[in-house]
Amino acid sequence: NARIISPEAEADDAALDRAIRPRYLIDYVGQPVVREQMEIFIPAAKARGEALDHVLIFGPPGLGKTTLAHIIANEMGVNMRQTSGPVLEKPGDLAALLTNLEPHDVLFVDEIHRLSPVVEEVLYPAMEDYQLDIMIGEGPAARSIKLDLPPFTLVGATTRAGLLTSPLRDRFGIVQRLEFYSDKDLTHIVKRSAGILNIETDVAGAAEIACRSRGTPRIANRLLRRVRDYAQVKAEGKVTVEVADSALSMLKVDGSGFDIMDRKLLSAIINKFDGGPVGVDSLAAAIGEERGTIEDVLEPYLIQQGFMMRTPRGRVATNAAYLHFGLAPKKAAED
Ligand code: ADP
Repeated sequence: NARIISPEAEADDAALDRAIRPRYLIDYVGQPVVREQMEIFIPAAKARGEALDHVLIFGPPGLGKTTLAHIIANEMGVNMRQTSGPVLEKPGDLAALLTNLEPHDVLFVDEIHRLSPVVEEVLYPAMEDYQLDIMIGEGPAARSIKLDLPPFTLVGATTRAGLLTSPLRDRFGIVQRLEFYSDKDLTHIVKRSAGILNIETDVAGAAEIACRSRGTPRIANRLLRRVRDYAQVKAEGKVTVEVADSALSMLKVDGSGFDIMDRKLLSAIINKFDGGPVGVDSLAAAIGEERGTIEDVLEPYLIQQGFMMRTPRGRVATNAAYLHFGLAPKKAAED
């Protein structure tokens, strides 16, 4: 995935991530609802000497789900084990993780909507009663064993809550939904990261990067890194608004923070489907993207910003989308 503003993690993000990822709630910028609630739930569980209730976190990629899972473990003073839905192929894979937990540990399962049904079955009694109920062996020698597990906290992350089965969703005591970040919060994040990475940045420069980051901290941090490169070569290392603007224009990230894929999606709805409504599968075929990428990565931000709408009959481009391309808005059919 070569998108500069892809909100998904990429390999070269790893080292940077470790340096700038907030470790405690106090550094978790924005998301006031999430913070306010976790600032109650975590100390309360600690004071009772219990494991925190299971937590489900949902939101588009790059908004801070993994970060929040780490923070929960740090704040609880426990270890975190990390895995993901597609990695847990067999019940035994999950059993191995669960039986290695210490009391109150956090087990973080990313992409929890992609668990196979047999693995999900094992998770239910584990979440509910800290009980492992698993078949070992095959054929006539097969038998079922029950094991007690230490009390633990499952933190599950998913891009869309609607992808979860309801028995799984019902077993989470705490559900947190992450929202896209405001420009102000992203400016704060860019300044914080620039400070940690020793990048000289003025406020306007940080704000310019922030407002072109699709409301997403991971993108803000990545754009900061690319703007730094540009500043080093062209502007003696200092990130100002002019430097940020030139660098981002060079990277084809436009003033609304849209990149080539965003523009391709919007312009397909407008030019190929007369503004919509168009079904997501036709749209996927028209722009050569997977349906899941449109649903999880591209459209949530475009919808939140009011450039497109999801209607029962399909996706529709709004007037704001026409204006973005310098086109006259489409007249409403009933005019
Ligand atoms: P997700 O798991 O939702 O894809 P991550 O938790 O990996 O997203 O977040 C991506 C990056 O964005 C992290 O490395 C972190 O540095 C940054 N980040 C996320 N949320 C916040 C936040 N609330 N405050 C500051 N930085 C954040």
